[in-house]
Amino acid sequence: MSKPTKKMQKILIANRGEIALRILRACKEEGIKTVAVYSTADTDLMHVKLADESICIGPPLATNSYLKASNIIAAAEVTGADGIHPGYGFLAENADFAEQVEKSGFTFIGPKAETIRLMGDKVSAKAAMIAAGVPTVPGSNGPLPKDNAAAMHIGRTVGYPVIIKATGGGGGHGMRVIHKEEDLIEAAKQICSEATAWFGNPIIYLEKYLTNPRHVEVQVLSDGQGHAVHLGDRDCSLQRRHQKVLEEAPALGLAEKARQEVLARCVKTCIDINYRGAGTFEFLYENGCFFFIEMNTRVQVEHPVSEMVTGIDIIHEMLSIAAGNALSFTQDDVKIHGHSMECRINAEDPKTFTPSPGLVKHFHAPGGNGVRIDSHLYSGYKIPSNYDSLIGKLITWGATRDNAMARMRNALDEIVVDGIKTNIQLHRDLVRDIGFCRGGVNIHYLEHKLNN
Ligand code: ADP
Repeated sequence: MSKPTKKMQKILIANRGEIALRILRACKEEGIKTVAVYSTADTDLMHVKLADESICIGPPLATNSYLKASNIIAAAEVTGADGIHPGYGFLAENADFAEQVEKSGFTFIGPKAETIRLMGDKVSAKAAMIAAGVPTVPGSNGPLPKDNAAAMHIGRTVGYPVIIKATGGGGGHGMRVIHKEEDLIEAAKQICSEATAWFGNPIIYLEKYLTNPRHVEVQVLSDGQGHAVHLGDRDCSLQRRHQKVLEEAPALGLAEKARQEVLARCVKTCIDINYRGAGTFEFLYENGCFFFIEMNTRVQVEHPVSEMVTGIDIIHEMLSIAAGNALSFTQDDVKIHGHSMECRINAEDPKTFTPSPGLVKHFHAPGGNGVRIDSHLYSGYKIPSNYDSLIGKLITWGATRDNAMARMRNALDEIVVDGIKTNIQLHRDLVRDIGFCRGGVNIHYLEHKLNN
């Protein structure tokens, strides 16, 4: 394949925090000019200071700033940006936004709006994967009917426990586990109204609640020109309230035949749906089998662990694909080297997990061979109370998992974040936990550990 030749000149970063900084760094490496957009709560963000241009897009409330498509598009117009990178969260998986961006003459750095509509919606994504021959978690095969008797029938056929999810949900929100049939209808009603309020979409569906799965996902890159590759798998089983806490790549000890088949199917699906950009297929893995749960049509928080083991820069590839280049390498060029893990550092109370924003009096970043930190923190930075509590990601690489883990232990011992409460101690405990060190723990492991 040919070397990338097309390049965008100026990119607007429609996000904040660590991912905005990550995108800014990639743009600067390539000589692409950057536009930062920020709310009035975010004037002190590191990437805002480092960007070529920066524009305030509204007040702290995200619905009036980072979620306000018209303000972001106006900022792109004023600054003459060619493309908009949405990062993750906010408008990243909003098909209407992607459509508006392209209609306004800018490149959306992500899939086409129609692809986001198909794969960003969990119900239609599951249907597409079933059609592609990929096993999914058994369930309602479409929205849960409003008719109580029909819904109860599905619950009984699937067998309890079941999980009800909002098709537009994300970030561990909009889902509930139901253990007894008598709770189904009331829970369905509640999730439905929560889903309408949070995601603007009342559609819910039902799945069998698997009791012993791991969360395994596949990172893909696809150029929308007939070429797609996978960058291997990640294990994100360490979760609290369905939210990832620590991730690693590759996933340990998967059944090789099933793994190869799933990787190949993900790549084929990308080609079949003409997928453009970076994406992740998420699966639950139980008893040697994979069950598709959802696709994320954007870059993910945990993308660095795949970068560390493949040496491929996912943001660079997103920029190149969006500029119209074909992938410059093939699957044979993708080699997995060693092991990587990522600890999500949150500003939160270590006991109650409630957010702990405020002034970071002192920040010391760890370093050394195989240590990477993706964080917008600096000493004297005041974390606003309006947004997600993720303040950084500590990532290590090692030739072996033990080596990556040893480096993570050191890095966690070195890191200093003074002035606010964080979950760093939890990570220090985790990388010394016998079960986790052994590897292959399931999605309930962390909650059990926290409750005992
Ligand atoms: P979100 O988009 O909010 O991340 P997902 O559908 O990806 O939602 O699910 C998040 C997590 O919830 C999974 O990683 C897993 O831990 C748990 N989960 C989701 N579906 C099931 C299921 N059918 N059985 C057991 N756990 C599940």
